[in-house]
Amino acid sequence: MHSLKKKRFAIPIGLILVVSLLNLVKHPFVVYLPFGIPGPQAASTIPPFGIFIESDQKKTDESNWACSYLTHEMVHWEQYKRMGLVSFHYNYLSLYFKSGRKNHWMEEEASEPCRKKGR
Ligand SMILES: [Zn+2]
Repeated sequence: MHSLKKKRFAIPIGLILVVSLLNLVKHPFVVYLPFGIPGPQAASTIPPFGIFIESDQKKTDESNWACSYLTHEMVHWEQYKRMGLVSFHYNYLSLYFKSGRKNHWMEEEASEPCRKKGR
């Protein structure tokens, strides 16, 4: 009976520890992928693992910093740092499934540096 109680608490405590440790990843690992990302997007931020961008976009990123995929994804990474791991994914995905990328405040915020530049 006593060991059963210990096991019941071990899983939630373990989960909290893993999420807390993953939350400590504050610097993104940026990867330019040699293949295309499935779907219409060319880049994706997946905290805590990093930022993934199709390698075809690297030249565009270097020539137009404000409107680059890396700048856009770095704003998403800042959102993750501000909101935390669980909150970032929950908010992003719930809004995405509700209304797609349009009227998505996290996407609008990430596109702000490019909009300020006038594009
Ligand atoms: Zn985005």
